[in-house]
Order: sequence, then C-alpha cells, then structure tokens
Amino acid sequence: MDYQQILERIYQSILPYAKEGKQADYIPELAKVNPDQFGMSIHTIYGEEASIEQADTRFSIQSISKVFALAMCLSIKGDDLWLKVGKEPSGSSFNSLIQLEVENGIPRNPFLNAGAIVMADILYSHLENPEDDFLAFVRAVSGNETICYNQNVAMSERENGYLNAAIANLLKYHGTIENDIESVLHFYFMMCSIEMSCRELSLAFLAFANHRRKFNYAGIELTASQVKRMNAIMQTCGFYDEAGEFAYLVGLPGKSGVGGGIAAIYPLQYSVAVWSPRLNPKGNSVMGIKALELLTTETKESIF
Ligand code: GLU
Repeated sequence: MDYQQILERIYQSILPYAKEGKQADYIPELAKVNPDQFGMSIHTIYGEEASIEQADTRFSIQSISKVFALAMCLSIKGDDLWLKVGKEPSGSSFNSLIQLEVENGIPRNPFLNAGAIVMADILYSHLENPEDDFLAFVRAVSGNETICYNQNVAMSERENGYLNAAIANLLKYHGTIENDIESVLHFYFMMCSIEMSCRELSLAFLAFANHRRKFNYAGIELTASQVKRMNAIMQTCGFYDEAGEFAYLVGLPGKSGVGGGIAAIYPLQYSVAVWSPRLNPKGNSVMGIKALELLTTETKESIF
C-alpha cells in the first residue's frame, strides 16, 4: 500500500471543504490559531510511515489527552476505575451537565469532560508529581522528550472555564472527586493543553494499534486486554455525540479534540493522526473526518 500517494490524493479531494466549519473560540488562546491549516500522518506497525502538509506543526491536543489519562488510570486502578465513571456512549455534548446531574455525579464515560475531570482527580491522588508524571508518560509513549504543556492555553481555559468548574462542583457535591476543585481543574486544563504534531500523535497511538506488543511506558503498564478495551471505548465514546456518525463514516476507534486534531487506529495495522482547526457543530474537525473517511474507503482498511 503506498500510503504517501494515498494521503496526497486524499488531500486534493478534501480541499473543497477547506473553509467549512469554525475553529473553537471558547478558549481564547485557541481562537488565535490560523484555521487554514491541515496535517496528516500515518504509521503502520510494520514501520511504514507517510506524512503530508503540516504534519510537523504542533497544535493543542485538547481532549485527545483523555486517551493518555485513561491509559494511566487503567494501569493504576484497573477495573476499580469503573466504580467512578461509566463506559457507555453519552449521546450528549462533551461538556453537558444534565446527564451528570440525573445520574448522580457518575459520568457516562471517561472521554466526557466530567469523566476526564474524574480521571484528573484519580491521577492527582495517586501520582507523586501529577503534572511531571503525566507529561513523562506522554513523552515516553510518543518517544519524544520535547513534548510540552502550553501554560497559556491552560490559563486561558481556566479563566473562561465556567462550565468545567460547574461540572467539577457537581462531581465534588456527589463525592466522585476527592481533591480540591481548583487543583483538579488546573491539572485537567494542563493535560488538555499539551501540544503535539500529527506525526507525534500518530506515533504515540501506534502503542494502542498494536495490543500484541507489550505496553509499558514510563512505568505505565497495560495488558493486551486493557489496550483492547481502551480501543473499544475510543470506538463508542471518542467523538462526542457524533461517535455513531464517525463509526458510520470512518469505522476506526479514535479520539478527537476541539483543537481540531483526531487520532485513530486500525488495530494490528496502523495509527493515523489528522489536524485541521475548523470544526463542525459537534466539535469534530471537518477536514479531519473527511480525510479519515476517504482513507478507510480508499484503503478498504477499517474495522468494519
Ligand atoms: N479542554 C477542553 C474542555 O474542557 C477539551 C474539550 C475537547 O477537546 O473536547 O472544554
């Protein structure tokens, strides 16, 4: 399979969508990003790689960081994690409060903001230096020591993060989180602020694409079965309330973020990351979804 040629063809086909959608602006720092950018990178478990356009430009990975948080929480807590957070798709938006209230402060899944704030609380309790340890894991799984937080993005989000603060308060009221709200939110926003390029993200996700290889990075170990289950959660919950549509169009487990990134995997074959800041109304990258839809259509490589 000539992935380089395929990616280049895909890029030409999706150019008509280049101005569709709108970048996230509820985090003021994200509104400053040039929306007219696109990058894509793919890595196979056999060592092939292809990248196009701005595949080496770093962007805010936002909710894609929730996959790394889930890996750490599963490694630390095992199945006890599921006492505090569910694993069902929500069908509601990523920052919704309604379901959380109705379901007594137990988030539907770890990829909702509420679920990720619970994971931030768990990691905050268990890690000696939460910010250092989280970054060390992301660096190890990516094989890249230069990956960093962007403090400006984290601060910008905190200053405007009224909805996430409301979610954290509701979680605290129900006893789902144990640490003080401000510390947990700060850590959550820092995790979301990590910046990576498509090439770096795709390489990191290769660890989830190959569950037959030992998963052990910076002391975070997962069994093959845990990696398989993480992929199941990416498939059912990874795309906000558009997980069904993404499964229908693309057919790969993955996770998106409001920075416009999407990372996905085809188990035992490849990992892929795509980035373009313009989002559709559900918060997923317009060009990103189009590119992945064409990738699985052209290659006939998807889980369905
Ligand atoms: N930091 C963002 C928030 O909490 C993440 C949203 C996302 O990428 O889905 O709203």
